[in-house]
Parts: sequence; C-alpha cells; structure tokens
Amino acid sequence: MTVLLQTEDLTKRFGGLTAVRGVSFTLSFGEVVGLLGPNGSGKTTLLNMISGAHRATSGQINFEGHPIQNLRPDQISKQGIARTFQLVKVLPTMTVLENTICGLAFGSSRMWGAEAEGKAMEKLHQVGLADKAKQPAATLTYIDSKRLELARALAADPHLLLLDEWLSGLTPEELQEGIKLIKSIRDAGASILIVEHIMSAIRELCPRCIVMNAGEKIADGLTGDVLQQQDVIEAYLGA
Ligand code: ADP
Repeated sequence: MTVLLQTEDLTKRFGGLTAVRGVSFTLSFGEVVGLLGPNGSGKTTLLNMISGAHRATSGQINFEGHPIQNLRPDQISKQGIARTFQLVKVLPTMTVLENTICGLAFGSSRMWGAEAEGKAMEKLHQVGLADKAKQPAATLTYIDSKRLELARALAADPHLLLLDEWLSGLTPEELQEGIKLIKSIRDAGASILIVEHIMSAIRELCPRCIVMNAGEKIADGLTGDVLQQQDVIEAYLGA
C-alpha cells in the first residue's frame, strides 16, 4: 500500500503542557482511519498540526513523500489536504453554492464562472444539497450546514480528508444519514482520517483506528481488536 501521510515522532507543546508527544503513524492511500481518545488527549492538536493550523514543536509530517510540517494552512490545502471543523464555519449570508465555490479556491485547480459553478454543484449533489444551492447558508438546518461544510472540503478535490467530529450533534436518524454519506465518500476511494467520539460510527466506517491518551498514541490497529485492548478501555473509563 502506498503511504499517503506519515507522521514521525510528532510533538506539540503549549508552554509547559505537552499536548501531543512523539506520535508516529502512517495512513495509506485509500485508507479510512479513526482517531479516538478521551477529551484532551491531543486529537485536535494532531489534526491542527497536519492541516498547518499549529506548527509542530518537533517531529515530521510527510504527505505524498514531501515534508509539510513547516507549511502554512493554505499551502497544505493546495497540496491536497482538506478538513472540516468541529464548529461549522460556513459563511451565513452567502448561498450554499457560493460557499461551496469558496472551497474550490483551497484546492490546486483554478476555475472560474460556469466551470466553478458546475464543479461546486457536483459536490452539492454528492452530499445531497443540490436542491438548496440557491439558499443563503444561514437558512440551513444543522445537518445541512454540516453537509455544506463537507461539500466545501470536497470541492478542493483533496487527496486526504480530515473530519473533526463531523458526526457530532446529530439526531440518531441524522447520524445514520451522516454515516451513509461518509461511506459513499469512502467507497468512491477517498482517504480519510476521522476524529470521532461516536464508537458505533467508528466501527462502521473505520477498519483501522488509532487511540490517543494524554498526548500519546496508545493503540493502532484493527478497530475490533483495538477497542478490546485493556489500556484503551481504561483510558476511556479514566482509570
Ligand atoms: P482533544 O482533541 O483530544 O480533546 P486537544 O488536542 O484539544 O485534545 O487538547 C490536548 C491538550 O492540549 C489539552 O490539555 C488542551 O487543553 C491543550 N491545548 C489544546 N490547544 C491548546 C492551545 N491552543 N493552547 C494551550 N493548550 C492547548
């Protein structure tokens, strides 16, 4: 399997606090990997380093064979990494379509006018929002704003998609819809790193998962096996 993303001994300190300590892992092309761990274990910080929002204190991040740990977020998105945020960040007064077109600008392709609109519409179809393209984003329901956030990330045609608790806050029915949507993106061949608390979603979506605790990677393997590991269970129980 071709390695897409590789972190090596990645560490992030905030003053005296080490949020991520010596984390190494690889994600291969086409893989969907879950990133789990209790609150404060360093998942978001890890995602922030991969997407360039935080500079690593030490260690390396290679993406498609190139070091990216010193690049800015815009440079990293142009290299092919897109992410969604825990708190949805759509632009409320712009239409759904305009918001999605904004996502195109984060990718490596240059498109304008009808071509950009066509591409954005394609992504809105993919997430089930095409019929709401002309509405202001502010009029969307919560799950639809999450769909939009996904469409915007997909508009950049990322080689790697980072999902930061994209499924959180949904009703049980919406959760099933959300899982189905991510499955369809996965089945189209995407490589995805999923930070998620919802275990049922991780079990359904991620054949493999990585578990963090207190800034360190404590498990990495087949999801079914990892979730039975004693230290993983204890980390979640706070033991
Ligand atoms: P998780 O996503 O697993 O909940 P985080 O990566 O958000 O964990 O946080 C890991 C640790 O780093 C926590 O102790 C948190 O308080 C700390 N932390 C995160 N971001 C910052 C920051 N910008 N400044 C200082 N401390 C931070």
